Amino acid sequence: MLRLNSHPSGRHFLQIPGPTNVPDRILRAIDHPTIDHRGPEFQTLAKKVLAGIRAIFQTRSPVVIYPASGTGAWEAALANTLSPGDAVLMYETGHFASLWKKMAEKLGLVPIVLGGFEQGSWRRGVDAAAIEARLVEDREHRIKAVAVVHNETSTGATSDIAAVRRAIDNARHPALLLVDTISSLASIDYRHDEWGVDVTVGGSQKGLMLPPGLSFNAVSDKALAASKSARLPKSFWGWDEMLAANANGFFPYTPSTNLLYGLSEAIDMLLEEGLSNVFARHARHAEATRRAVRGWGLEILCTNPAEYSNTLTAVVMPKDAQGKHHDADAFRKVALENFNMSLGQGLSKLSGWVFRIGHLGDFNDLTLAGTLAGVEMGLALAGVPHRAGGVQAALEYLRETAPGARRSPQRKVA
Ligand SMILES: *Cc1c(COP(=O)(O)O)cnc(C)c1O
Repeated sequence: MLRLNSHPSGRHFLQIPGPTNVPDRILRAIDHPTIDHRGPEFQTLAKKVLAGIRAIFQTRSPVVIYPASGTGAWEAALANTLSPGDAVLMYETGHFASLWKKMAEKLGLVPIVLGGFEQGSWRRGVDAAAIEARLVEDREHRIKAVAVVHNETSTGATSDIAAVRRAIDNARHPALLLVDTISSLASIDYRHDEWGVDVTVGGSQKGLMLPPGLSFNAVSDKALAASKSARLPKSFWGWDEMLAANANGFFPYTPSTNLLYGLSEAIDMLLEEGLSNVFARHARHAEATRRAVRGWGLEILCTNPAEYSNTLTAVVMPKDAQGKHHDADAFRKVALENFNMSLGQGLSKLSGWVFRIGHLGDFNDLTLAGTLAGVEMGLALAGVPHRAGGVQAALEYLRETAPGARRSPQRKVA
């Protein structure tokens, strides 16, 4: 039986694709007395994180920080830029894209949805050509925004945001570009300015290695201009008061002070490692994970190798003799109870037949090795048919691509 007050020895392996494992350095940074958020010490902290977070979004534009989960920042992106009845072109890459669409409907917007589970779009990224074609049809410019998810956390597919930008430009369409980067920020290359994104939505608990509780809107000049005439109701989410207060290093209401200590530390850690090294680390661990999955003879949910996610891998459970998928949740339960490791469940239409391995955030080769060992042993204990050798394939790749292997001449191992 799992008890909340139990203390199994060793670290829990939190291998869901967010929240992710919070490193000691960040835990220590958060573990300080809460200070007056209207005082000078706070002002110094706020100025530092408000400047530093721009580097993470690769933008010169302001980034608004909310004391909220990612869902709040989704709402802020829509509420600040759009008016009741506005059409929004959305692309259904999976569970998170469809949740954002449902939110748009509840707010009084009119989503136009491309893709769909039946068309296989839950196994790929967005089709930029389809977006372009739909925008070309919209001669009266009724569509006010295009909203897409950069890294679909339910499926493990990453979309080409630069291609979506080109699609909008090719169609000569004035729609805003809104992008959710909640599970890719600080793990997969993401360029708010270069890709011409108008509002980027981020969250604290994935690549930023923080606990849940902060979320972000990076705001382009065009989005800011749109916010002046946008008529969806908003108060808490309004950018105007936030940006005015932020200009002096303050917030219009009480911010998550201790999480901001953590954010300051997270930004330091990411910039010390170097963003390009952070992205390369995630790419390497993702490749090792896929080699393990193939080694087990299991199927990766994402069908387009060019769009494989570097932060998580969704795995399809094999079928039994009756053609029914083995139970993904029973397998995850075995992994948790035996090896103290949480794996991601299949969400909505993927429930029961897909599980997800999170490999993002504070992560190194041996964390990955432990994770994959837990999966391999869990598959065996749960009676899921698979080949041996997945972990071995991943370890070989990690060894061959280790910094030491790159520097010294390759020694052949028999
Ligand atoms: C996690 C996630 C969300 C939801 O964020 P919450 O912090 O749970 O509100 C939205 N979109 C994507 C792509 C995510 O990965």
